[in-house]
Amino acid sequence: MSEKLSFVNPTANSPWGTYLSQVDRVVPYLGPLARWVETLKRPKRALIVDVPIEMDDGTIAHFEGYRVQHNMSRGPGKGGVRFHPDVTLEEVMALSAWMTIKTAAVNLPYGGAKGGIRVDPKKLSLQELEKVTRRYTSEIGIIIGPHTDIPAPDVNTNAQIMAWMMDTYSMNVGGTATGVVTGKPLHLGGSLGRVKATGRGVFVTGREAARRLGMDLRGARIAVQGFGNVGSVAAELFAEAGAKIVAVQDHTGTIVNPNGLDLAKLVPISRTDGVVGFKAGGDIVPNEDFWNAACDILIPAALEGQITAERAQKTTAKLVLEGANGPTVPVADDILAERGVLVVPDVICNAGGVTVSYFEWVQDFSSFFWDEDEINVRLDRIMMNALNQIWDTADKHKISLRTATYAVACERILTARQERGLYP
Ligand code: NAD
Repeated sequence: MSEKLSFVNPTANSPWGTYLSQVDRVVPYLGPLARWVETLKRPKRALIVDVPIEMDDGTIAHFEGYRVQHNMSRGPGKGGVRFHPDVTLEEVMALSAWMTIKTAAVNLPYGGAKGGIRVDPKKLSLQELEKVTRRYTSEIGIIIGPHTDIPAPDVNTNAQIMAWMMDTYSMNVGGTATGVVTGKPLHLGGSLGRVKATGRGVFVTGREAARRLGMDLRGARIAVQGFGNVGSVAAELFAEAGAKIVAVQDHTGTIVNPNGLDLAKLVPISRTDGVVGFKAGGDIVPNEDFWNAACDILIPAALEGQITAERAQKTTAKLVLEGANGPTVPVADDILAERGVLVVPDVICNAGGVTVSYFEWVQDFSSFFWDEDEINVRLDRIMMNALNQIWDTADKHKISLRTATYAVACERILTARQERGLYP
C-alpha cells in the first residue's frame, strides 16, 4: 500500500510522468523482483535549497536549487547539474531517475542523482555565475561527496563550473576532494576524453544501430537538435564517418542544407552566435520545419519532451538516437515504433558521459591517469557490451530497446535492493 507523492503532479508527457510510464512498461518482465518496483517510483531523497547572491549592481537575488538522489542501491548517486530558467523539482526528479536506469544499464557501480538551479546563466556575469555555483554547492554540500553523490556537467554547466564546485566542497571539508565532481578541467583531476564522451557514446551506439539496420553511414543524412556538448560532438563524429549533417537546431533557430553543413565552420560560429550565425552555410528556416527535414537519422540532443506525437508522425528518419535525456514522450514512442523507426533510448545512447565520468572518478582515487586511447577503447567496449546485452533482451522478449534497457537495468537495481534488504 503506497500513497502517491504529494509534491509532484506529473502529466502523461511531463518528465516524471514519462519516466513513470517507462517503468510501468517494464513490470511484466521483472518476475518476482516486481515486488520492489515501487522503490523506483519515488526518489530516495530530494533537497530544495535557496541560493541567494549579491549581484554586480548591489541587489540581492534568490534562485531555487535542487539536488535529488533517486536511488543509491548500487552505489553513490551520480548525475549532472543543470542551470536553466525552466528547471523544476519534477524535472530534476525525472533526470535523477534516468541516471539510476542509465548507470545500471551500463553496469557502473553508481545509483542515480541530478541537480539544478532555476537560473538563466546567460543573464549572469562571470562573477555572479561563480557566486551562484559556490553557494549552491555549499547548500547541497550536506548530501554530496566522493562516496555519497558525485555531480557532473549538464545543460549550461561545464568544466569551469565543476572546478568551482570542487573548490567550494574542498574548502568546506578542509582538504582537496577531487572525486566530489566529474567533468573537471584536466589539471584538477579531470579525465581525457570526458568532454567528448557523451557525443562519442551517441556515435558508438548509433554506428552499431545503423549496422544492424543495414544503413550505410557514408552519405546518411542526419538532423541534430541541440548543438552543445552532446549534439555538436556527435555531429562531428558522424560527419567524420561520412554522414551529412543536413539540419541543426539550437536555442537561436534552425539551419538546413541538404548537401550537408560544413561543421568546421558551423561549430566555432555556433559557440558565439548560435547556429543561425552560420547564414552563409545554409538556409535559416522556421523551427518547426526542423522536424520535416529529409533525413535518415534524427538526434535530439537538447531538452526533454521534444519528440511529440505530431513530430513523431512527421519525421522521415529511420533511426532516432536520443542524445538528450527524455526527448521522446511515451505516445510518440509508440508512434515511432508503429512507423518502424528504431529508437536507441537515452538511458543507453547518452551513457558515454557517465561512463567516462566513472573513469575520471576511478583515476582521481588512484591518482593515476590514463591516456585518451585507453579511455576511448574502454568506453567503446563498455557501451558495446551493454548495447549487445540490451539488444539480446529486446529480441528475446520482442520489446523495444527502451523497455529492454529498463529490463536489464531494473533487474540489477532491484536485485541489489532485495539483497541489501530493508532497513530497519
Ligand atoms: P549544452 O548546454 O552543452 O547544449 C544544449 C544545447 O541545446 C544548446 O545547443 C542549446 O542551444 C540547445 N537548446 C536549448 N534549448 C533549446 C530549444 N528550446 N530548442 C532547441 N535547442 C535548444 O548541453 P549538453 O550537455 O549538450 O546536454 C544536452 C542534452 O544531453 C541534455 O538533455 C542533457 O541532459 C543530455 N546529456 C548531457 C550529458 C553531458 O555529458 N553533457 C550527458 C548525458 C546526457
